Amino acid sequence: MHLDTTVIHAGHPPVHEPGAFLPGPLFAATYVLPGDPANQPYTYGRFANPTWSAWEAALTALEGGPAVAFPSGMAAISAIFATVLRPGDVVVLPADAYYTTRLLAQGWLAELGVKVRLAPTRGDAQGDLLDGARLLWLETPSNPELHVCDIAALSARARASGALVAVDNTTLTAALQQPLALGATFSVASDTKMLTGHADLLLGHVATASEEWHQKLRTWRTQGGAIPGPMETWLAHRHLQTLGLRLARQCDNAEALVARLRAAPAVQAVYYPGSADTAAGRLLGAQMKRAGCVVSFDLGSRARAEAFLGACTLVREATSFGGIHSSAERRARWGADAVGEGFIRFSCGAEATDDLLADVTQALAAAVRAG
Ligand code: PLP
Repeated sequence: MHLDTTVIHAGHPPVHEPGAFLPGPLFAATYVLPGDPANQPYTYGRFANPTWSAWEAALTALEGGPAVAFPSGMAAISAIFATVLRPGDVVVLPADAYYTTRLLAQGWLAELGVKVRLAPTRGDAQGDLLDGARLLWLETPSNPELHVCDIAALSARARASGALVAVDNTTLTAALQQPLALGATFSVASDTKMLTGHADLLLGHVATASEEWHQKLRTWRTQGGAIPGPMETWLAHRHLQTLGLRLARQCDNAEALVARLRAAPAVQAVYYPGSADTAAGRLLGAQMKRAGCVVSFDLGSRARAEAFLGACTLVREATSFGGIHSSAERRARWGADAVGEGFIRFSCGAEATDDLLADVTQALAAAVRAG
């Protein structure tokens, strides 16, 4: 069966069971629990909730390994750090990883005595730092320059040197790239972004091929208390049902935008995994079904980038990505990524392709007029 079909039905009651297709959120801090609590699935709200169970069943079907839901992507990332890493351990991170992941590692983990090694995503450079490492952390495509690395090759090298592998799969989701099938120990994502896609909630999850790590992550959530809310979880499950449709349109829009940007003299560089970069081109189709909805490009100056953003009529200036509404931002405004002042990260929404291209085209003309 196609994954798109699986995802539409995943975590739902059986098709012939009377009742709602997707039962609504269940709000409970505690449950009626007479007698012996052993073997009761729902005992207390921090331990378990039926709305999470349905959401996690859907994520498990999508990822190909048991999934644990968390209240944000960073809560999911922290759960892996907290369960895997101990003082003296080495973690190998992408130098171009999502910047809060880097900050957490270089701050909190380093203070605990964990050693942090950094290398770029491009060229599988992290593979050269694996000696003695406990955890290899990958993020592919990386953020915001969208460089890619070979998950299967790096996982094999990590396994040979005794390291676990986690892949931050936020940008593509498991619908386009399956880290567990490629040999990773953990597939982690911010579900705030492409997976749920409506800019109305924060969530994250970790899936793992290992039952032992699955139980450790679940225990961490129960004891640490970073639990998702039932309302967000249910909304997320509702949004997940259209993931295949959203991805198809949003990837189409990204590919059309890349072609338009590459032909535009005002654009100094375009960043998108594909033919221009041979390593990425090789992984496209094999490791990743498509390259996702995020496109980055450089307009060369802050003035041009701001004029572009101000002139767009369909594109909201906002951080984050993956939603059905197109959005974009000048990344240098955060001061956290090593990018130029005119660098824009653009997240293609699900608008009709012609409308989006027309809007971008007139906004590029406005950028040129800005000098
Ligand atoms: N991973 C990536 C690649 C991200 O872009 C983000 C957020 O921007 C996160 C993780 C963190 O997710 P959240 O904001 O849901 O905590």
